[in-house]
Amino acid sequence: MSDPLRILVIGAHPDDCEMKAGGVTAMYRALGHQVKYVSVTNGESGHQSIPPTELAKLRREESDAVAKLMGIEYDVLNNRDGRLLATLEPRFEMIALIRRFQPDLILTHRPNDYHPDHRATSTLVCDAAYMVIVPHIVPEVPALRVNPVIAYLSDHFQKPIPFAPTVVIDVEPVLESILDQMDCHQCQFYEWLPWTMCQENEIPSDAAGRREYAKQFYCGFNGPLAERYRDLVIQTYGPDRGSKIRFIEAFEPCEYGSPLTEANKKRLFPMLP
Ligand SMILES: [Zn+2]
Repeated sequence: MSDPLRILVIGAHPDDCEMKAGGVTAMYRALGHQVKYVSVTNGESGHQSIPPTELAKLRREESDAVAKLMGIEYDVLNNRDGRLLATLEPRFEMIALIRRFQPDLILTHRPNDYHPDHRATSTLVCDAAYMVIVPHIVPEVPALRVNPVIAYLSDHFQKPIPFAPTVVIDVEPVLESILDQMDCHQCQFYEWLPWTMCQENEIPSDAAGRREYAKQFYCGFNGPLAERYRDLVIQTYGPDRGSKIRFIEAFEPCEYGSPLTEANKKRLFPMLP
């Protein structure tokens, strides 16, 4: 395992990594570990009025702002948003990307998820697992000798099987950092996502009001998680702290990566108590 750790968070769109792993990222960075975010698509479809070419450029700039803020690398790949398919070309791109970063841990979506790009991203990562150690596949980038540990980001979908985390992290201590990351994605949290919920007329124009809106959005989005996995939260943090924790990030091991054992869990998630 690397020291410092190398953590690769792979989302389908600019802002997925921030929403599902922005808290642990802040904690990894505070402990001196390396984190890289990847958006597998360019985000060109996520707006009600900005044309795709212009939007892709804007979302690259917003992602760059997150990279600067967090001191991380942030790749936005040039696959078109809303059109991602888990075919050979993006699989080879994924294999090369994983090999070049040499992660100890990869975090990504689950294969069952509402968004086709999220599903395709998950499939691409799962299809790259194992193949990253096969030298004759993508021979121009040296193969890894060890398959990284892979874990899924949380979601609330129940079929065919619900999310089943084995790692939960209290992220309320770094809530401000998560909001800072969201705030970089102005065109998402204050324009597109409110529009998808018919709330476009409720967005404050001032920075403080917007930040409060983002906070309410995050609390609504993340709040049910801690309650859903309360037993594991209490098991992890003890009854006193565990019963009071409000916001968590949660991770489920993917069977196609190296095993997440009790021993390497403490090394890969050093923010665990
Ligand atoms: Zn997404």
